[in-house]
Amino acid sequence: MSAITPGMVCGHHHLYSALARGMPPPPRQPTRFREILEQIWWRLDVALDAEMIRWSATLGAVEALQCGTTAIVDHHESPSCIEGSLSIIADACATVGVRTNVAYGVTDRHGPDGARRGLAENERFLRAGGRGMVGVHAAFTCGDDTLADAAGLAAQLGVGVHIHVAEGPDDADAGMRLQTLARDDWHLVHCVYLDRELPGTIAHNPRSNMNNAVGYARPAARPNPIVLGTDGIGADMLEEARLAYARMREDDVLTSPDIVWQWLENGYRLFPEARTDRVTWSYPHADSAWHVAFTPGMRALQVESGDGEVLLRDGRPTRVDLDEVLAKSAEQARRLFAML
Ligand SMILES: [Zn+2]
Repeated sequence: MSAITPGMVCGHHHLYSALARGMPPPPRQPTRFREILEQIWWRLDVALDAEMIRWSATLGAVEALQCGTTAIVDHHESPSCIEGSLSIIADACATVGVRTNVAYGVTDRHGPDGARRGLAENERFLRAGGRGMVGVHAAFTCGDDTLADAAGLAAQLGVGVHIHVAEGPDDADAGMRLQTLARDDWHLVHCVYLDRELPGTIAHNPRSNMNNAVGYARPAARPNPIVLGTDGIGADMLEEARLAYARMREDDVLTSPDIVWQWLENGYRLFPEARTDRVTWSYPHADSAWHVAFTPGMRALQVESGDGEVLLRDGRPTRVDLDEVLAKSAEQARRLFAML
């Protein structure tokens, strides 16, 4: 047993939500999944500008390192600041020392021009050599043409599509609409209401699903590879794994933490090099599923990248000044809240 593990991988994040914590309440209390999107997340994303995106990604990356997470699959939307947004996120995370796979979530919510610009941002970033996928918000906010365009662009560029699938009842026909488009390299997020098999990796986000009251996704019953994501609520993968285990166990008392451990392992399919990162933990059995499942509060003390560079020492990032990151992101959060 050892207190050292490879770097953790977050299989689905929205780094822009790092500034959302403590945001002003919506005008009306949302009572359903769709209202949560409309009154919280779709008011937030439209307010984002370049500086907010930069500092939310920087803060999110620092907080990820502090949790031993060295690689993030991010899904981004900022309809008022589309062009260049993926580079801002990737550069901010690279500065901190966190690996990323980014995607811009295309949607028809802002008309055909919004969808076109979203696709163009994915294409610009990927053609310039950026690491990512083609992002789509979800089938229920896109027409069939936009879904086909995104699938076509991804196939052309040799990457998958990163898309929310059947997260809530509003997107229950996603399986039917994506059936002829999805491929093995697609990254399917949630799949709570998915009524059939689709090829691809499924990103399971138990805390987010509970928070949105959409129900349990039962990922263990799916044939797909499963990875764990946070859906924007931090990047503490051992915390998410404990939640995933508790939620799964609530549903089936015969199940074991080893299944959730495999979901963490599957993250290295997306970021093989994160295996070479070394995280030193505050608890001596950090590499055991059966210990981790019942040990809240473990902390990453030190994170070292595969090439030996120390990225986090005594819980503090080494490449950026923690106090400056906290001050700048608090300033951007104040700007964001003022706009809401
Ligand atoms: Zn999401």
